[in-house]
Amino acid sequence: MAHRRQEDISRREMLAGLASSAAVVGLPLAEGSAADAPPQRKLKVLVAGAHPDDPELSAGGTIARYTDLGHEVVCLYLTRGEVGKLNEPKTPEETGKIRSAECEKACVILKARPLFAGQVDASTEVNSERCAAFLKLIDAVKPDVVFTHWPIDPHRDHRTTSLLVYDAWFKAAKKFELFYFEVKAGPQTQLFRPTLYVDITTTEDRKKQACFVHSHGEQVYTGWTDLMNRFRGLECRCKFAEAFVHLPRGAADSLP
Ligand SMILES: [Zn+2]
Repeated sequence: MAHRRQEDISRREMLAGLASSAAVVGLPLAEGSAADAPPQRKLKVLVAGAHPDDPELSAGGTIARYTDLGHEVVCLYLTRGEVGKLNEPKTPEETGKIRSAECEKACVILKARPLFAGQVDASTEVNSERCAAFLKLIDAVKPDVVFTHWPIDPHRDHRTTSLLVYDAWFKAAKKFELFYFEVKAGPQTQLFRPTLYVDITTTEDRKKQACFVHSHGEQVYTGWTDLMNRFRGLECRCKFAEAFVHLPRGAADSLP
């Protein structure tokens, strides 16, 4: 079969691919792929992760692609990583402050805006109050596109984040496009079958820089993220890529 470059895949094909859940390559809703092309319409993109580093590890290259094109990206952190391991022992409050500062630094590198949802690491909850508060947060951002955790993941905080976003998607009458991302494929993200690839070859270096400002970021990046970026790149014929699963808006309404 003849080799097809990413540029050969038209926007029409990309949207058709999204509708049918077939795997395609492209940046959701963003017109054009050149970094110097002005955006047709400024998009609001929200990347929701459970902990400091989850948005960056999972979608850092995609975030930089959006912001390079002039779109607005908000990195939403459900928690401040209060119980994450640091090199020296700290209280949960001290750890939360250190890790929040890491998020701020990572967002500067990616030209994104950090936002914190106020839950606590390892004690995250899904209940009617939490769902209402999360919906309020999403409503205030008014995103066109949301990326969040794939729900089949042994980490409870990841599942919580995924469920809160899914609940808000329904409550907001599916006003935004919903995409799931992968974190550590294998020990965390499981049974993940991408429907969309984003070529991050031009932004991988900034993704790496953003991940490295986090505690243990280098260890996680070299142990998992780098391999995943390269493997997803092989799958869609580029050097580095990030992979996502798009949830079609009509999925709940149609018979198989
Ligand atoms: Zn996490």
